[in-house]
Amino acid sequence: MTGNRASLHTLGCRLNQAETAILGEGLRQKGFQLVEFGQPTDLLILNTCSVTEDAERTSRYLIRKTLKHSPHAFVAVTGCYAQTGVEGLKHHAGIDLIVGNQFKLDLPTYLPPAQELKKRSSPEVQHTRTISREDFDLPHLAEPDSTRALLKIQDGCSAMCSFCIIPFARGHERSRKFDDALREAQSLVARGYREIVLTGVNLGQYLHNGRDFCALLRQLDQMTDLARIRISSIEPTTVSAELLELLAGSAKLCPYLHVPLQSGDDQVFLAMNRRHTVKAYVALIEQALAKIPNLGLGTDLMVGFPGETETAFRNTLAVATDLPFSYLHVFPYSPRPGTAAMRMRPTVPPTTVKKRTNLLHNLGHAKRLAFHNKQIGITVSALFEARTQDGYRFGTTPNFTRVVVSTSDELQNQIKPITITAATERWALGQIVPNQSMKTSLALL
Ligand code: SF4
Repeated sequence: MTGNRASLHTLGCRLNQAETAILGEGLRQKGFQLVEFGQPTDLLILNTCSVTEDAERTSRYLIRKTLKHSPHAFVAVTGCYAQTGVEGLKHHAGIDLIVGNQFKLDLPTYLPPAQELKKRSSPEVQHTRTISREDFDLPHLAEPDSTRALLKIQDGCSAMCSFCIIPFARGHERSRKFDDALREAQSLVARGYREIVLTGVNLGQYLHNGRDFCALLRQLDQMTDLARIRISSIEPTTVSAELLELLAGSAKLCPYLHVPLQSGDDQVFLAMNRRHTVKAYVALIEQALAKIPNLGLGTDLMVGFPGETETAFRNTLAVATDLPFSYLHVFPYSPRPGTAAMRMRPTVPPTTVKKRTNLLHNLGHAKRLAFHNKQIGITVSALFEARTQDGYRFGTTPNFTRVVVSTSDELQNQIKPITITAATERWALGQIVPNQSMKTSLALL
């Protein structure tokens, strides 16, 4: 029997999450009722990632898992794995529709009406190798499912880092039309979202009709009723002095940067085709820290890139130790078909990769705890989420400290001043500042 339940699931980056929110809205408009992923469903839309082999394996596993509890479910696969692995996916049992990245946001239009969803003997494929270079606007308004709304403003990357499959999966850099990005931001604010997170593959390369990333930020900064603007991951080569000034001078722009480092060794940088030196990265971070008080600073580190010697790894460890990162995202290198690094030698033995990954994970835990400890005694604003557990409410501060407070008050989507009183590695614990002290805290909102 076919019904109209639809379930969506995202693997990978924030940009994928932003696009899933757009797809969800498209499904609602087509009369589907969205159910939580993992629940019985009539339609599964899997928005995949191909950044690692592991992410691809997970996609195949999730399709099998869904078909176990919902054997009749129509399965549509889109995203980077659908783009780069289309030939393999065509032969994977249980898939009914494959939509490459060029057509991703049109996916709802390729679906039959809910009553006519039927499993197919072989999948329909909507795919093209070449992805448009045109700037774009987006067909639907996203309906974000969390307090922070992800706003897609950019897609694609032309940097060609030697390990990265993204330029093949998402094509060249292009930007969302300036007015279309503002239109959606306005709409999100009108629907009550307090924080907008700008997403893209290479955000700092945003450029539409001569208006760049800083121009867009300035415009968003003037939007009444928008409390916070957050920048998701941004490449070090695109963090300009102008951007740092903006971050330092705006009450809405969150003092938070996630700047991928990948390695702390210049030889590895060269082989990775990263376009800067370790010295330049460190100088940039030092400038940012000097300009922006209490900056939250995250990074990505890749372990086991071909040719990563013990000395090269020690260099990475040293840079990661010295810079005051608030957290580290540590990934083992994963060879990706079609990339230049795939042919590079010598490869690093898996046991060495594991050992190095563990060292960086441990460093990451210590960094997170140190960052949370540094927040103790600070009064800052927290934006609260819907999630509650055992009388606790969860939120985030502008510098992306995850906070938890004990209260029975309904706080969802509210911004409240809190004082951080204690810290664990996972959380900073806070207390809401009572009303009489509100005046002194208002500057923080
Ligand atoms: S900047 Fe490099 S790592 Fe980032 S998406 Fe582009 S090619 Fe990939």
